[in-house]
Amino acid sequence: MNISDLAATDWDAVVVGTGLGGATLGLVLARHGKRVLFVEKGRDLGLEKAAIRGHVVEADPLFGGSHEDQREALRRGGRRVDEVEIGGLPVRPELGNGTGGSSALHGGVLERFFPGDFAAWPITYRDLVPWYARAEELYGVKGERDPLRVEAGAPLAAPIPAGAATEALRAALTERGLHPYRLPLACRAVPDCSACQGFLCARACKNDADRMALRPALALGASLATGCEAVSLEASPSRVTGVACVMDGRSATLRAGVVVLAAGALATPALLLASRPGGWDRGLANGSGLVGRNLMRHGIDLWALPGAPRLGHPGDAKALGFNDLYETPRGKLGTVQSFGTLPALEAVLAHRSPVLRLLAPFARALWPVLSAVPILATILEDLPQTSNRLEFAEGRPRITYRPSPDDERRRAIFREELRPRLAGLRPVLVSGRDAPKALGHVCGTCRFGEDPATSVLDPWNRAHGLDNLYVVDGSFFPTSAGINPALTIAANALRVGEHLAERM
Ligand SMILES: Cc1cc2nc3c(=O)[nH]c(=O)nc-3n(C[C@H](O)[C@H](O)[C@H](O)COP(=O)(O)OP(=O)(O)OC[C@H]3O[C@@H](n4cnc5c(N)ncnc54)[C@H](O)[C@@H]3O)c2cc1C
Repeated sequence: MNISDLAATDWDAVVVGTGLGGATLGLVLARHGKRVLFVEKGRDLGLEKAAIRGHVVEADPLFGGSHEDQREALRRGGRRVDEVEIGGLPVRPELGNGTGGSSALHGGVLERFFPGDFAAWPITYRDLVPWYARAEELYGVKGERDPLRVEAGAPLAAPIPAGAATEALRAALTERGLHPYRLPLACRAVPDCSACQGFLCARACKNDADRMALRPALALGASLATGCEAVSLEASPSRVTGVACVMDGRSATLRAGVVVLAAGALATPALLLASRPGGWDRGLANGSGLVGRNLMRHGIDLWALPGAPRLGHPGDAKALGFNDLYETPRGKLGTVQSFGTLPALEAVLAHRSPVLRLLAPFARALWPVLSAVPILATILEDLPQTSNRLEFAEGRPRITYRPSPDDERRRAIFREELRPRLAGLRPVLVSGRDAPKALGHVCGTCRFGEDPATSVLDPWNRAHGLDNLYVVDGSFFPTSAGINPALTIAANALRVGEHLAERM
């Protein structure tokens, strides 16, 4: 369908974005027989014959070409092309842009939050438990339950195979009094699955939002417009009346009974701030002034363990997690988990200094050895601060993000607490700072809550003051928790989708 045909239809729901939030919610509405249109800015990666799969875009020959070749490589790899200003520099956030959104690139660790993570949320862990279970089923999650959780949920399907290195590391962690378990992963059990992250899966074994939610919704009659960008929303003071889009260079306004934003925690607030219909001078849904604020992203450290057995099986790279340091007497820290495979050397060297590139031949010789060293990632909860935000400055999106002194203090404690627990495995902290572009876990920019003065969305993810506008991507988190966000986004989208279907 071209954009004129899309604009000539009265949709029950227009869903902007096909990541975990949008595709999951759209599937629920399609199951209820609603006429759903998904609007996706990126490509249809299910149909894209020239898609870059099985390696990071930076390692693809096309990426080495002209500026326009680079942009085309990013599009083919399902990656975001647009830049944002961070710290005065243009930065391209490493996020998904294409069907499935960031889930097409992610590592697929689908973990529940802990009950204590909901302290500042308008819903409880118990409210989300049934939806967590359904989301785990929908996304085919395989692995083990965390032995430290009191309310862990029913056993999951058996984890994907791993090798002797995983068993040896598990034994070593257990000997040190830790409680490791096989990570819950959203993937098919195909031979040699390596739970790849950072790029599109070559074997289509990742259970991402495209395969598990968008395609089933399309099979039920939903429609998909790719290469279609929502640029602003039209509204009366109490209802959204249209979604202005650009597709193939042509503009039109789409009409729907309900509009669901799921463009991700950077693009959704950007869209709201760019929409200023009458009565919404600070941006649509921005009565609280909090749209774009409270941006969180996690503090992530990487620890190499040269004293542990070398990884020898594809399943070893993303195999183990433990939560012994999640909530400690010194404060909430976060989860610890296998990082996954190292990216190709080309990706590590891309855009680095000429000196580093000169060292490339040596690095190339060493890389196979280095990339077999197990790496653990720690995920620190960063607390919301209104000064951390996405805003428009001179018409361009800009991110301001500084960890609070308390975030810095807990990060130092995390390191202090973890190092002795890994003694004997020769832990080396290999990344001490978060790269500005590493925004994979970004959230919080349209927080939900009871009070319209202190939140953007109500507890059903409906924008305060707007009867038919919902936001279901990672923007709605009031706090980031010290754990991967994807399962909570998907579970909440199921919860909101069922509620919404009843109202429509
Ligand atoms: C490399 C990587 C690894 C990760 N690993 C994990 C992991 O192992 N476990 C975990 O829990 N989380 C992980 N994450 C985070 C997780 O993938 C995201 O939190 C989650 O997928 C976000 O889903 P979302 O629905 O909020 O938005 P997104 O997935 O970002 O989807 C937004 C969609 O909207 C589209 N869009 C944007 N703007 C517009 C517009 N104006 N018009 C139309 N469409 C638009 C985008 O193209 C995109 O498809 C990872 C992320 C990355 C990048």
